[in-house]
Amino acid sequence: MRKSRVKRTKTVCTYCGVGCSFEVWTKDRHILKIEPQAEAPVNGISTCVKGKWGWDFVNSEERLTKPLIRQGDEFVEATWDEALDLIATKLSSIKRLHGPDSIGYIASSKCSNEENFLFQKFARSVMGTNNIDNCSRYCQSPATTGLMRTVGIGGDSGTMRDIEKSELIIVIGANPAESHPVLATRIKRAHKLHGQKIIVADIRKHELAERANLHVHPKPSTDLVWLSAVTKYIFDQGWEDKDFLQGRVNDVDAYKESLEKFTLEYAEEITGLTHEELIQLAEMVHEAKSVCILWAMGITQHLGGSDGSTAISNLLLATGNYGRPGTGAYPLRGHNNVQGACDFGTMPAWYPGYEPVQNKEVRERYEKAWGVSLPEKPGMNNHQMVEGIQKGKIKAMYLFGEDMAIVDSNSNHVHDAFEKLDFFVVQDVFFSKTAQFADVVLPAAPSLEKDGTFTNTERRIQRFHKVLEPLGDSKPDWLIFQELANKLGANWNYKDPGEIMAEAASLAPIFAGVSYERLDGWNSLIWPVHKDGTDTPLLYKDKFFFPDGKARLYSVDWTPPFEAGEEYDLHLNNGRLLEHFHEGNMTYRSEGLTHKVPHPWLDVSEELAAERGLEDGALVRLTSPYGQVKVRVMVTDRVRGNEIYLTMNSSEDYEAVNRLTSSYHDKITHTPNYKEMGVKMDVL
Ligand code: SF4
Repeated sequence: MRKSRVKRTKTVCTYCGVGCSFEVWTKDRHILKIEPQAEAPVNGISTCVKGKWGWDFVNSEERLTKPLIRQGDEFVEATWDEALDLIATKLSSIKRLHGPDSIGYIASSKCSNEENFLFQKFARSVMGTNNIDNCSRYCQSPATTGLMRTVGIGGDSGTMRDIEKSELIIVIGANPAESHPVLATRIKRAHKLHGQKIIVADIRKHELAERANLHVHPKPSTDLVWLSAVTKYIFDQGWEDKDFLQGRVNDVDAYKESLEKFTLEYAEEITGLTHEELIQLAEMVHEAKSVCILWAMGITQHLGGSDGSTAISNLLLATGNYGRPGTGAYPLRGHNNVQGACDFGTMPAWYPGYEPVQNKEVRERYEKAWGVSLPEKPGMNNHQMVEGIQKGKIKAMYLFGEDMAIVDSNSNHVHDAFEKLDFFVVQDVFFSKTAQFADVVLPAAPSLEKDGTFTNTERRIQRFHKVLEPLGDSKPDWLIFQELANKLGANWNYKDPGEIMAEAASLAPIFAGVSYERLDGWNSLIWPVHKDGTDTPLLYKDKFFFPDGKARLYSVDWTPPFEAGEEYDLHLNNGRLLEHFHEGNMTYRSEGLTHKVPHPWLDVSEELAAERGLEDGALVRLTSPYGQVKVRVMVTDRVRGNEIYLTMNSSEDYEAVNRLTSSYHDKITHTPNYKEMGVKMDVL
């Protein structure tokens, strides 16, 4: 008998948008070690704790290995044919009875570009609807809106190398040391070794805030006000980049007029920042030759999330901080492939490569390639689909690689909606909370068991390779879509994900030069990629993405935050834990990570702890108008006064933060206002 050998396979991490790549050493199904290689474009020498220790979930006994079909309150194992035949019959019948727009499709920001491309092709060309969305709706859609309004496209302006080169970085509502650890390491290195200046604006004094040259703590949900006041002050001092504005930016006068109300006095009153802090912010921006702004959910997950993101881009435009190395806008992508899921078209209004579904010329290109007629009307987003179920418009859903029952806001409301569905398909690696509401559950293979590409926060496309065979009867998501599409009359014959990428490249101009050959080994490509393979690490060097090539200053106003009511006297913030990823389906099943951090906790300020008689480890109940959670307390100086912070990565339902959050949302994108929750606290 031939002895098994140690195998080394390149993969890309699935735990955040930084996109570290490394070799996985395996023997049979045992993961022996994770080894970063010098050639890895993002991380070269290191990974964070999740990249290193977050992989033994692939051998968990809790993996789904067979399709499951609901029979009453039970699920019974089925063959692939039985499960796919049932799905094909049910979806066809619901489409016939209620129309194609009665079915919603939720894609996965954890899965590959090729799988997301194929899923949107399935929804559009086989099922005839644009009702497709992914979890960017929960996070960075407002950032995309802010950038679309001002510079014409939603991607990060440059690469992590540009962030390192910047003289000044401003981090707003983001905690890179826990959410994007390897990027944070690069920032800390640039700060310590090269004197890069850091400003952090955040209501929590996280690790980077402690290291920053300036940490400001505005009142929750007031960032647009201080950003606009700083921009106005810069104009008032004559510090704007006049040549840049004159040559490259439209709507300057109208925008300056809109800033009139954002005086330092107004900003002091609304944000709680002092006159001196506001002037210091403006002076630091003015004095730096290159400025990057990094932001995340602390900006976007608000009623005015799109406007806050727009204010960031306005400040960069006013000071000429676009199109040069070390400048630009960096909305940090949370999931490993949330950038790619959007890029490859799992959005209700966009084909792959951000071309609108309403554009006749674009639609005809896809109709010709796919030999079908395609729907013209933009579809429903995640939020609208949930409301659509409640109103009886959405009858069925198909969701893969997303635990919406945990990660969507106001989860009790979402659970209630799922119970009303006539038919629900959930495709995942584990029997998730969402799977509990399903009629059919399909076993999917995680990234270590398939081939494909992911796109990181820098727009960088990288290949990952199959390390292990799929466990049991589980299959790669793309193969499941192909088999189901063929049961519904399609004739798809993709032999591997490379053929899917070739099709995407032939249809979406921003991927024109992407191919598996060009992505061989440790090579990567940053979109837009031209036919000759030339890629674009830095955007806006010569032009912005509007027809006249100029950017636009876009006037915005402040939206006050949601008020839960007087009895909800504490402001609840939430965010990631270094050791866990999102709903925790993978990391809480990785022994090393769970051993280290088995549960989330609640940050409580020293003042509040003294007032309520709380000590570390005390058990408390938080109540909002929407639900309750129970969690243990950590007393810390990272939060202040009545502001508390709950880590969002829950291992148990009773501690899941979205039991508390509301269904209110950003008015443009419908991104929930996760960061605007009033709660009350009882000591148990
Ligand atoms: Fe890199 Fe992010 Fe994975 Fe950590 S979680 S190894 S920073 S990609």
